[in-house]
Amino acid sequence: METFTVRTSSRTDLKDITGEVASVVGKSGLTEGACVVYVPHTTAGVTINENADPAVREDIASTLERMVPWNGPYRHSEGNSAAHVKATLVGFSATIPVQSGRLVLGTWQGIYFCEFDGPRTRKVHVTLLPGR
Ligand code: ZN
Repeated sequence: METFTVRTSSRTDLKDITGEVASVVGKSGLTEGACVVYVPHTTAGVTINENADPAVREDIASTLERMVPWNGPYRHSEGNSAAHVKATLVGFSATIPVQSGRLVLGTWQGIYFCEFDGPRTRKVHVTLLPGR
């Protein structure tokens, strides 16, 4: 397993980590298989979505905010329940096929680290699974 860090810069921050993940795959020498990207946090997650128009990221963040407002009738005493709920909605891992030594992503796809209680320094774990 390889681990890299992500520094987020605001409470909600969707950061493109495609390059970091591709670099782990490239250095590994894996040619065929799968890449599991895992976020070991409770108020951040990972997703795959459009990497061409940055407005898509803004729309995802703003829609999640409307669905799960920061201030709500929450019970969790830490005061960041919205971040926990958003992280569960996007999920904590993504699996991307690897073929010919490269991530198999669609033309418009990128891998996004999803911060919901930043800014913080976060970890991302990448596990490579050989296959054919
Ligand atoms: Zn909490």
